[in-house]
Amino acid sequence: MTRSPVAPVVFRIPMRTRFRGQTVREGVLLHGPAGWGEFSPFPEYGPRECARWLACAREAAFEGWPEPVRDSVPVNATVPAVAPEQAHDLVRASGCGTAKVKVAERGQTFDDDVARVEAVRDALGPAGRLRVDVNGAWDVDEAVRRLKRLDRFDLEYAEQPCATLEELAEVRRRCDVPIAADESIRRAEDPLRVRAAEAADIAVVKVQPLGGVRAALRVVEACGLPAVVSSAVETSVGLAAGLALAAALPSLPYACGLGTMSLLSGDVVDDSLTPVDGRLAVRRPSVNYQHLSAFEIESPQWLRRMQEASL
Ligand SMILES: [Mg+2]
Repeated sequence: MTRSPVAPVVFRIPMRTRFRGQTVREGVLLHGPAGWGEFSPFPEYGPRECARWLACAREAAFEGWPEPVRDSVPVNATVPAVAPEQAHDLVRASGCGTAKVKVAERGQTFDDDVARVEAVRDALGPAGRLRVDVNGAWDVDEAVRRLKRLDRFDLEYAEQPCATLEELAEVRRRCDVPIAADESIRRAEDPLRVRAAEAADIAVVKVQPLGGVRAALRVVEACGLPAVVSSAVETSVGLAAGLALAAALPSLPYACGLGTMSLLSGDVVDDSLTPVDGRLAVRRPSVNYQHLSAFEIESPQWLRRMQEASL
C-alpha cells in the first residue's frame, strides 16, 4: 500500500491501565512542513473545544514551536491508588525526585491515602517533593482537615482538592498547603478565572486544550501563576508539544506531568519521550511509519470530528 505522506493517520493504542474510564487512546496524526502534530481530544469534547486541540496539532505540523530556554525538563512519577509497598517500589524505580500521589479513590479510605503518602515520602527521602492529586473529590471541610493531616509528610502542593473555584479559594484561605488547579483549567480563559478567584497558587496547564504552545505561553503569562505542564496522555508526537511548552516557559519551578508514555502500550516513534533519571531531554522524536501502521485504524468518525473542529 502506498499513501501520501501528508494524509492524516488515525491511531488507536491500548492503555496499560484504565484511565478516565478509557482502555484505548485514539486520535489523528497530521503531517505538515514543520513535522507531525497530534489531535486527540477525549471522547466527551464537542467541536468547539476540539477546535483548540486541533489548533495545537496544526501549530506542530505547520509552524513549529518557539525556541526552548532549557535543554531538559524535570518530570514527576505518578502513583495511582495502589498499596503502600507498590507505591514505594514505583517511586524508587522511577528515578524521579518528585512524585504525585493519587488520593480519594472511590472504594478506599483516608487511612489508605495516609499509608500510601507515607510510603511515598519514605521512598523519596526528605529532599524529594511530594504532591497529592484529589481530582476534586473532597468538600471544603474534608479537604482542610485531610490536607493538614497529610502535611505531616511535607506536601509540595495539593492538586484540585475540591471541585469548584469557590471551594478551592476557601481551602486555600484555611490551610497552608499550596493549591494547584487542574480540572478547573480546561479552556484558555479558565486560568484567568482561577487567578481572579484567588483559588490556586499553581496552574496545571495542558497544551492541547489551550490551543498550542504559543497560546499556552500567552495564557500562562496572563495568568501570572507558576505553571506545571501536564500531558493529556498523548503519543510522543503529542507529548513533544507539551515538552516544547515546558522548555519555553520563562520559569519552571515545578516538575511536570509529562512522564506519561508508560501509560500507553506502544508509541509511533523510535525514540519515545520517556524520562531518564526523572528528566525528559528536550527533543522532537520523528515518526516511524512501521510503528505508526501497527496502530493505524480506519475511522471516518475521527476524520469527521477533525473536520467539524475546523469549521
Ligand atoms: Mg490532576
